[in-house]
Amino acid sequence: MDLEFTKADLDFRDEVRTFFEENLTDELRQAGRMTASIWIDPEYSLAWQRILHERGWAAPSWPVEYGGPGWSDTQRYLYALECARAGTPLAAPMGLGMVAPCIMGYGTEEQKAYYLPRILSGEDYWCQGYSEPGAGSDLASLRLQAVSDGDDYILNGTKIWTSQAHVANKMFLLVRTNNEGKKQTGITFLLMDMDIPGVEVDPIINLAGEHELNQVFFTDVRVPKANRVGEENDGWTVAKYLLEFERGGGTSAGTEIRLARIRANLLENAPDDSTLFAQLADLERRFEAVKMTELQILSSLVSGESPGSAAAMLKIVRSELGQDISQFAVETAGPYAYAVQHEARVPGSNVEPVGPSDFLALMPSYLTGRASTIAGGSSEVQRDIIAKAVLRL
Ligand SMILES: Cc1cc2nc3c(=O)[nH]c(=O)nc-3n(C[C@H](O)[C@H](O)[C@H](O)COP(=O)(O)OP(=O)(O)OC[C@H]3O[C@@H](n4cnc5c(N)ncnc54)[C@H](O)[C@@H]3O)c2cc1C
Repeated sequence: MDLEFTKADLDFRDEVRTFFEENLTDELRQAGRMTASIWIDPEYSLAWQRILHERGWAAPSWPVEYGGPGWSDTQRYLYALECARAGTPLAAPMGLGMVAPCIMGYGTEEQKAYYLPRILSGEDYWCQGYSEPGAGSDLASLRLQAVSDGDDYILNGTKIWTSQAHVANKMFLLVRTNNEGKKQTGITFLLMDMDIPGVEVDPIINLAGEHELNQVFFTDVRVPKANRVGEENDGWTVAKYLLEFERGGGTSAGTEIRLARIRANLLENAPDDSTLFAQLADLERRFEAVKMTELQILSSLVSGESPGSAAAMLKIVRSELGQDISQFAVETAGPYAYAVQHEARVPGSNVEPVGPSDFLALMPSYLTGRASTIAGGSSEVQRDIIAKAVLRL
């Protein structure tokens, strides 16, 4: 197997690198490096998305017909590596990475024409209304009622753990349109504006003291039937398709950079500690396995297949590895990791970090990352999926 990049690949990498050097401001770079999770304040993530959009690079994995750049697997892989290397702010995944593939796959021509350009340009910022109190792992038990009324549905109920609902202007959500029969067959997938009457967003503050999560309440909320994706009562099909993108999407390119930073820190501060280097080598070995699985998923996406059960495997190993790396990073950073300085992480802040600035986001990342084995489907539930779909147990 030839693992060398071709000259054309390297030229492409240089083109991306140069573009980032010329367009990624210090402020945007700091917003990317200082984030404790996948969420970056839309002020920065959308500003960066607009710059990428002008260059035609906002959606590396979209088909060309909808505005994707038409890159090869290798190019997308190199691009993700360059993003991680430069510390670019991450684009919010709900729009570009989750609802967009569903609209492409199941939406009407009108929905495609209206929503996809707005997602691409960053005009719309999406959140995901799947989970409810009592309906997380067992998502099909969801109860938010949508009652038919002429050309609209009228929604009553609640969604919980809704990431970024407080900043999103759109939500894709699952609602119950039929209470009879098997619970999966009474669900419908809708697209909704957040600023309509009857929608109330209450904050939930996480372990790291950050506001990412919310509970959303619906009181007689009117959503046009034209905003339905797929058939009434067939939303489960769309919902499952989207979950594959949620669980299989993203890359671990940032992990490679994190591991390299930890190695550099150890070389500088504990060069003779063989126990720590052995632990680091184990994390690096696990990372290689994740990287190979990602490449496998990437190639199935390119050939038009959905990620399938490999997405469930990746979700488990990537989230568990991420948690172990952030724990190791905190332990090896020593006392500096314990100085939580939220203000010093804000781009342009004049608050002096007490330790190296690279350590500022370690503790918030560690605390926020505890949720990664729950969000998007818990590890236990992912293992159930693998047991059934792969091992046929
Ligand atoms: C940080 C974060 C962000 C999130 N963002 C969103 C969002 O934007 N939109 C959204 O809709 N949802 C979101 N969620 C919700 C997330 O999808 C749910 O938390 C998740 O599906 C688990 O559901 P639950 O919290 O109801 O836990 P439960 O389903 O009640 O599970 C509780 C425990 O029981 C275990 N368990 C449950 N069923 C089984 C089983 N069959 N076999 C073995 N063990 C089982 C679980 O693994 C878990 O340990 C987010 C959650 C977090 C933590």
